[in-house]
Amino acid sequence: MRRGLLVVVSSPSGAGKTTLCRRLLQEFPDLKFSVSYTTRPPRTGERNGVDYWFVDAQSFQRMVEAGEFAEWAEVHGNRYGTARAAVEDALVRGHDVLFDIDWQGGEKLKAQFAGDAVMVWVLPPSLQVLEERLRRRATDAPDVIGRRLAMAKEELLHYTSYDYLIVNDAIENAYDHLRSIYVAVHWELRRARFLAAKLLETGNT
Ligand code: 5GP
Repeated sequence: MRRGLLVVVSSPSGAGKTTLCRRLLQEFPDLKFSVSYTTRPPRTGERNGVDYWFVDAQSFQRMVEAGEFAEWAEVHGNRYGTARAAVEDALVRGHDVLFDIDWQGGEKLKAQFAGDAVMVWVLPPSLQVLEERLRRRATDAPDVIGRRLAMAKEELLHYTSYDYLIVNDAIENAYDHLRSIYVAVHWELRRARFLAAKLLETGNT
């Protein structure tokens, strides 16, 4: 059977990775989104079980202690985590899984699933553009925006653990790059070799 792939997309908030991830999921319905658990309250329009599983701090802590997370991290004062079972289940079935997670989570997944993770880092075209995008996103309180901005510069330094860089100057362009990376890695020989084996087995050339 085909080996599943972990597609990890990270960037500081406001670089546009969520939009890029949504488009990839729309175009490739077999790609599964890893719905994270978070203690952050939902933003307008966010749905439980679709964007995140929204849980309280106690429930999150229980999951940490029970070892249910493949990774978890504190980001901007809230906790976020990836359920181990959901990821392993998808991989066993040979599905590709997409992760919209921060660099801390990205590094942990890379360490655990070495060889099966492709790491994509999304850069804003400039720090100024990043600031404008965060301010335009009126879903966060002003103090939250300020905090995220201050951390963005520091977060940007973590690109070095990633395999691919995308500069999100224009969404079409950036999406084209993300799509190309995904398609290329999906068809890597070590993941797709079962197709050749199947074809040769049946003599169906
Ligand atoms: P937001 O609150 O804007 O949805 O997400 C804040 C940050 O947390 C983003 O960088 C997002 O990618 C990251 N994040 C979301 N889910 C997870 C997760 O399960 N684990 C980790 N480590 N980061 C996550």
